[in-house]
Amino acid sequence: MTDPRPPCALTIAGSDSGGGAGIQADLKTFAAHRVHGLSAIAALTAQHTRGVTAVEVPSLAFLRAQIDACFDDFNVQAVKLGMLATAEVIHAVADALEVHCPPHLVLDPVMVATSGARLLQPDALDAMRQRLLPLATVVTPNLPEASLLLARPVETPDAMRQACAEFLATGVRAVLLKGGHLPVGAAPDTIIDLLADADGVHLIRHDRLPLEAHGTGCTLASAVAAGLARGMPLAAACREASDYVHRALVLGYRPGRGEVIVLDHF
Ligand code: PLP
Repeated sequence: MTDPRPPCALTIAGSDSGGGAGIQADLKTFAAHRVHGLSAIAALTAQHTRGVTAVEVPSLAFLRAQIDACFDDFNVQAVKLGMLATAEVIHAVADALEVHCPPHLVLDPVMVATSGARLLQPDALDAMRQRLLPLATVVTPNLPEASLLLARPVETPDAMRQACAEFLATGVRAVLLKGGHLPVGAAPDTIIDLLADADGVHLIRHDRLPLEAHGTGCTLASAVAAGLARGMPLAAACREASDYVHRALVLGYRPGRGEVIVLDHF
C-alpha cells in the first residue's frame, strides 16, 4: 500500500519578514505542491518591498536543534538550502546534513538579494564550495552566483555551457544554471536555463516576462525540492519547477508600497 500522506521537505534558509522570498516563499511553494513543509531558520531578515533593513543570525546550537527536531520526527525526503549568511552557519548545516543524509539536497547558493543586500558574507564562499557543493543533488546558481563560485565571469551562452562542465568537474552531481541574467540579445523573448548532469545537458526554455520579481530563485529551488520529495526524476522536477515559477510570476502582485512584485502561490 502506498502511503497517502504528503511527503515532507525541509527548508534551511533565511526568514523574509516581507513574505516574498526565503522561508516564507519556500513553505508556500511546498504547500502548493502538496508537500508538508518543515523549516529551520538559519538567518532572520527584517525586510520589506524596498529592501533589507536588518539581518540577525540565530545561535548555531539553536539552528542545529531545529534541524535535528525535523529529522528526529519526520521522514524528510528533500532538503532545500537558501540564505545561510556566514561560513559558520554553512559549517553547522553541513555537519548536520552529514549526520542526517537526506535523500535529496537542493542548494540555492543565495548571495545577494535583487535589492542589492548582501545575504552571504564574502568569506563564506570557500565553505560553500568545500562543504555544500559535494553534498548537493543539484545546485541552482544564477549567473552572478556561478561567477563567484567559479571565480570567473559567466556572462555568455558559451560561458554557461563551460560553467556547467566546470561545476560537474568539481564533483557536483547536477547544476541548474539559470540564464535570466544573460544580456538580452539574440533571443529577447526567451530565457534558457541549463540543467547539466552525468546524462548530458538539457535546455529549459521559458518566456521572458518584463518584470523584476522578488523570491523567484527561492521558489524555483523549493519547487525542485518538492518535486524530488514527490519522487520525480531531477529533469522533470526542474521542468515543472520552471513552469510553476512562470505561472506564479504571471499572476504576481505588488504587496507593499515598493515596486517589487512577489509571486502568487495561491
Ligand atoms: N531574503 C531572503 C531571506 C532570501 O532567502 C532571499 C533569496 O534567496 C532573498 C531575500 C532574495 O530574494 P530576491 O533576490 O529574489 O529578492
